Amino acid sequence: MNTCLICKKKVENTFSEKWQSSWGKLFSVEKSNLLYALIVMNGVDACICEDCYKENRWRDICNIDAPELHYQFALEYRDKGLYGDALAALNSIDVSSRGADIWAAFGYIYGKMGKKEMELYSYEEALKKDPLHANSIENIETIKKEVN
Ligand SMILES: [Zn+2]
Repeated sequence: MNTCLICKKKVENTFSEKWQSSWGKLFSVEKSNLLYALIVMNGVDACICEDCYKENRWRDICNIDAPELHYQFALEYRDKGLYGDALAALNSIDVSSRGADIWAAFGYIYGKMGKKEMELYSYEEALKKDPLHANSIENIETIKKEVN
């Protein structure tokens, strides 16, 4: 069970959904409707809920790794298909703090939004940070094949 470090809200507020398989069997799927990110603080996992993130309450915590927090929320939003929110989270990260993984996340999201030029640019930025970033190399090759 995770509890938000700031507001102490329990974030694993799961609900179950009934699904029916193609052969008629009913089963339930556990889902969580609360978004949260886990970041390492002083060597332990700390949980920050979406409300505390969006309302900037996390800024009161000293020593918080802000780029990591934005990045983790970007991945959460990406996984939920909320690409606009994911992009906003990534854009909150200072350019000087953007490593290859962060640029690659930009690339993925721009790709999902159909912004091919920005997608390519982001993966190229990722390679400037890490010339061996496998995911970016692969995606650039795929984009260039599609263009030609
Ligand atoms: Zn909270």
